[in-house]
Order: sequence, then C-alpha cells, then structure tokens
Amino acid sequence: MNIHEYQGKEVLQQYGVSVPRGKVAFSVEEAVNAARELGSPVVVVKAQIHAGGRGKAGGVKIAKSLDEVRTYAEELLGKVLVTHQTGPEGKEIKRLLIEEGCDIQKEYYVGVVVDRGTGSVVLMASEEGGTEIEEVAAATPEKIFREVVDPAVGLQPFQARRLAYAINIPKELVNKAAKFMMALYSAFVDKDCSIAEINPLVVTGGGEVMALDAKLNFDSNSLFRHKDVLALRDLDEEDEKEIAASKFDLSYIALDGNIGCMVNGAGLAMATMDIIKYYGGEPANFLDVGGGATKEKVTEAFKIILSDPEVKGIFINIFGGIMRCDVIADGVVEAAKQIKLDKPLVVRLEGTNVELGKKILNESGLNIVSADSMADGAQKIVELV
Ligand code: ADP
Ligand code: MG
Repeated sequence: MNIHEYQGKEVLQQYGVSVPRGKVAFSVEEAVNAARELGSPVVVVKAQIHAGGRGKAGGVKIAKSLDEVRTYAEELLGKVLVTHQTGPEGKEIKRLLIEEGCDIQKEYYVGVVVDRGTGSVVLMASEEGGTEIEEVAAATPEKIFREVVDPAVGLQPFQARRLAYAINIPKELVNKAAKFMMALYSAFVDKDCSIAEINPLVVTGGGEVMALDAKLNFDSNSLFRHKDVLALRDLDEEDEKEIAASKFDLSYIALDGNIGCMVNGAGLAMATMDIIKYYGGEPANFLDVGGGATKEKVTEAFKIILSDPEVKGIFINIFGGIMRCDVIADGVVEAAKQIKLDKPLVVRLEGTNVELGKKILNESGLNIVSADSMADGAQKIVELV
C-alpha cells in the first residue's frame, strides 16, 4: 500500500527523521492559510499524488508570497498531473503539501528496500540525489553504495556512518546523517515497509540533514497489525477494479493487456499470464479467485474483469483442487447473465467436479470455447482476441 508524501513525512517524524515544517491542504483557502501559518519567506506548493517525478512535471512550485501560493494552489488543485510514473492518463491532484522552503546545499539519495538477492533489508545511498535512482543505477552504478542489514542485530551505527562517508556527506554532518539513516531503518522495520525512499535527502545551509521527499510503501499483508497505517489509505489513488476486488477478498491486479484472466491459485495465475504472453497475447489482469471461492465471489470476479473496457476476451483456467469446477461454472453463468456477455470466452477446467462444471457451461447457452489444456486455451483466446 502506498501513501502520500506528507503522510510519509508524518510517519518518519515519529522516528526522529527531520522534515521541513508543512501542512496538507485540500482547497486553495487551506493552502493560503497553511502558508500564512508557516510564515516562512519561501513556501513550496507540492502536488500530492501517489507517484514521483512531480518536480519535472510541474507539480512542485516555489512561492515567494501568499499571492503566489494562491496562484499555484489554484493552478494545481484539480489538474491532472502526468509524470513518468503516472502513465499517460496522469493523476488528478486533490491534495497539496504546503511546506517551508528549504535552503538546499546539496541533494542526496537514501533508500531502504528488501533485496531479494541477499534475502535482507538493504540500505542504499548515493551522492546523486534529486535524479531518478534508476538513471543513476544505469549510467553510474559505482555511485550507489549499499549496506546489507543483518536482521538479528539491525542496522549498525558504523554501517550508517560508512554510507554517509561514502556519499560524501560533509564531515561535520556525518553523525546527523547516520542518525537519520538509523531512524529511517527503524521506521521501515517497525511499520513493515516494503520501500522507504528519501529522494532527495538534503543538507541545508543551516547544517540540517532533512528528508525533502518521502516515499513509503507498506506490505499489504501486514496491515492487519498497523491500523494507523491503514487509516492513511487514499482510495482515490487506487484502481477502482482493485478496490472492488479487495472488498471481495480477491487477489486482483490490473494490467495493460486485453485478455482477462480468471484463475485459481497465484502460481497458476502467473503461469497463465506467462503462457498468454508466450502465444503473443497480453493479459489484462492477474486474478486469483482463491481456493474456497463461492459462486458470489466468482460472479464478482467476472464482473470486475469485464468492467475493464480494454478486455476483448476472457480466459478461465481452473484447476479444481479445493475449488470445485461446478462452483466456477455457476459463477460464470450467473455473471454472464447479469452482464450481457458479448466477448469470447475460453474455458479450461480440470479437477474436482469437472464433468459437472462442463455440463453447466454447455447447457448455459453461452458461447464458450472449451480447451483441452492450458496451452490449447491460451492459443485459442489469443487467436479470438
Ligand atoms: P518528486 O520526486 O516527485 O519530483 P520532490 O519532493 O523530490 O518531488 O521534489 C522535487 C524537487 O523539488 C526536489 O528535488 C527539490 O529540489 C525541490 N523541493 C522539494 N521540496 C522542497 C522544499 N521544501 N524546499 C525547497 N525545495 C524543495
Ligand atoms: Mg523526489
């Protein structure tokens, strides 16, 4: 789960990470009032959307008066901001962070991630802050430094200092930077983050080490034990289909393709996406309806798939182990009835109650192409679409 920059900064502050003073605003008036309260000569008006690259896209404005704050707030609120992370459709700006302008001496990068290679949490840092870390990694990988954290003892102060030296933090600020990293790491572990990225971390003219940006991602499987984090969820930023799916406890992820997939089991769902691509198609979604799905759940899943206007056909690939093929068949028929289904449907059923499932589909009067195997089904749906 993603949260906004201002929320990330609030979380980090609880762990002792310094951030500029700031306040969220939902309207132009709130923005101007927030700036007045801050009382600083320079105020930064920052679009709050769940995507980075806002600076380059015009979503971060420096204002030198309350009038300028008003002008920028009017310009940004309600505008659709397109950054290289939003996709071409962009994201509508509904919140602003009104923040004290910071006297930046230099920008750095610090990120905490889970590294699958080492199976550990890794702290990464670079002197090349402000730019995309992916670009730094591609062009000058030697400028990214890493410390692998031993989970038994956590990030050690010497590791944080070593990183601070490696990225050339001014000597007199190394201890402050090391404390910053320790605090960031604590927040990451404590809140079950999957990413905690500060880009840029800045050193200021006043000798402060601060987070000027904050991107926190949380492991969704941990949210049951972080009610405070869950409260920060902004449904406006999430895919409508994914929200609907989460209500029915379906594991659904929207993708760019045009072949809707209804599968049981995450492994089979991924293999299904792979085989569709293998035969030249593009999956429109990942969907695992789960083991014990009911007819209602299958119906909802089917509706969610079809609510995506890009979907030109559906491939149902079910291995009935715990899941019964007749339940899937009932759900498909029910959903097809509810929504006038006029798109090709390829079904591959195998396992528990497969004969009954096939019978239900055959007698439904729906236009269904049945497949003998996964490969056969994938080829058929790719052809039809
Ligand atoms: P994004 O990563 O989405 O572009 P950032 O929060 O990193 O957004 O802001 C982009 C740039 O704007 C920063 O690299 C920094 O140079 C500048 N900036 C952001 N916040 C402030 C601030 N409070 N004071 C001064 N400059 C800022
Ligand atoms: Mg940034």
